[in-house]
Amino acid sequence: MKITYPHMGYSYIAFKMLINDLGYEPVVPPEPSKRTIDLGARYAPEFACIPYKVLLGTYLETIEMGAEMAISSGGVGPCRAGYYGVMHQKILNELGYDFKVFILEPPQSNYLDFIKKLKVLKPSVMSWRTFIQLIKKGYSKLEAIDEMEFLMYRFMPYEISKGDTARAFKIALDMLDQAQTEDEIEDARWECRKVMAKVPQDRSRDPLKIGIIGEIYVVLEPAVNFYIQKTLGEMGVYTDRSIWLTSYAQKNVVVEGKVGERDIHEMAHPYLNEMIGGHGINSIGEIVIYAKGGYDGVIQLAPFSCIPEIMAKGIVPRVSREEGIPVMTIFIDEQTAAAGVLTRLEAFLDLLQRRREQKTVKERLA
Ligand code: SF4
Repeated sequence: MKITYPHMGYSYIAFKMLINDLGYEPVVPPEPSKRTIDLGARYAPEFACIPYKVLLGTYLETIEMGAEMAISSGGVGPCRAGYYGVMHQKILNELGYDFKVFILEPPQSNYLDFIKKLKVLKPSVMSWRTFIQLIKKGYSKLEAIDEMEFLMYRFMPYEISKGDTARAFKIALDMLDQAQTEDEIEDARWECRKVMAKVPQDRSRDPLKIGIIGEIYVVLEPAVNFYIQKTLGEMGVYTDRSIWLTSYAQKNVVVEGKVGERDIHEMAHPYLNEMIGGHGINSIGEIVIYAKGGYDGVIQLAPFSCIPEIMAKGIVPRVSREEGIPVMTIFIDEQTAAAGVLTRLEAFLDLLQRRREQKTVKERLA
């Protein structure tokens, strides 16, 4: 059976290994491109959000590569993600493809259903013990990938020679891709840390600090968010991202991984006390956390027509004013152009820089 899955940042490396370990043939999804989005947009309902269109485009591209089934996650709560699997399946069948969209709903929504679905994925000759060990191994590779990506964005604003950190990250990714056993992954992780740490840095710099928040897919997939964190890193900006695939899985997100989901919701409570689906409530709580953490600004990434992020955006001006932190929202759909995003980023950085300088002058005069 040839199995594919959605492309989300660099996680494809770990999923490729896991699917292979389970005895299936992985079809690695290509990085989302204009063609992916065009394909998805051609067959998706017009007002579907960009993650829906990218996923549909990815399935169509991987079908061309021979994929017979896709494994994806579902969603609960007042957000359309819960319907996506069913709708993707319907559209692909109507287009005449014999392709299965296999959706794993979050276990908390129905443990029994989750176990039943895992049972379908577990080869009958494989013990549960081996199956769980393989999932754990895949997860440890995912953690190592997240750690290297995290280090890349941490080091970029201090790199002396432009491009060194991105090159080191590429080497680290290749090393992790080669590692197949639990021990090899652990060894590779140590080696990757050394590779990343060797990048010459100028720690005397005091870069602008920006928090990146928003809907999970557009935050996690650089090809959809116009490589925003990398672009900012190259512009000398220190960024922190509120969502990582592994920390999301553990419900333990934000600023150096020390603040949990419950803390985020508590921070959001003065402004928003209702679950609005997706990451809407998190977006509000995370702005407060970044403001308290001394960040200069926040960028909210939101798929155009994403109801949770639109609702959060309605509250953002008040949060921004009361917490004293500028927030810029970037809505993303198939019409969004890289040049427009870059222009907005440059203008936002100018604003943050001027704000910082004014603050310094005020502090000196006080
Ligand atoms: S959170 Fe927004 S973008 Fe994500 S699936 Fe739901 S509606 Fe779509």
